[in-house]
Amino acid sequence: MGRKPFRVLLHAASVLLCLVPLVLVVEAVPSHATADGGWVHDHSSDGIPRRPSGYSEMVNTFGPRCTDRSNDARTLWPSQSEPFTAGYVYFHPYLHRDASWNIRNHVDAAGKNAAPYPGIGGYNCRLISGSTSWSVHSWGAAIDTNWQRNPLGQAFWNGHGADGKPYGTYLPDVWRGPFPGHNFFWGINWSRPDPMHFQYVTNY
Ligand SMILES: [Zn+2]
Ligand SMILES: [Zn+2]
Repeated sequence: MGRKPFRVLLHAASVLLCLVPLVLVVEAVPSHATADGGWVHDHSSDGIPRRPSGYSEMVNTFGPRCTDRSNDARTLWPSQSEPFTAGYVYFHPYLHRDASWNIRNHVDAAGKNAAPYPGIGGYNCRLISGSTSWSVHSWGAAIDTNWQRNPLGQAFWNGHGADGKPYGTYLPDVWRGPFPGHNFFWGINWSRPDPMHFQYVTNY
């Protein structure tokens, strides 16, 4: 009878030891997820909705291309068209919670508003450059970021921001996914690299 509490104690200690890494992980999340202004990531299915795969699923998700709805959401981005000049980026409302709430607030909360560099843009009713296929931008389902430093065909990401400082792949890591990114697919590894390009569909 005298031994039992000891065993229980040992068991409790081992459970505690097992929990230590878990507790550290759990506590690490709020520091990433909570900002000074009370902003928290929304990683629910609304915050990070299902990402379609292929043309049919893309059209099922976003509807017809080049419509009013294709650009019915917008977010004010720093250095959108000129360094340190904010401008609106337009895209499909399916992505509003992820792009406007998660991603934009993420950059702001991290104090990295100088990481964006012109230009930044979303909706654009056009063909893929050099192709007869419609660009994902026509559905408002792709957002180009820092394109003046990351042109089509460049096989690396230039992470220098509007302040001239290197931010590495900070911005791509925020856009792409899964967690801690936000599930946009990055075009950098295509046979024709498109480092500026982040789209919310795969296999198209
Ligand atoms: Zn997040
Ligand atoms: Zn693009």
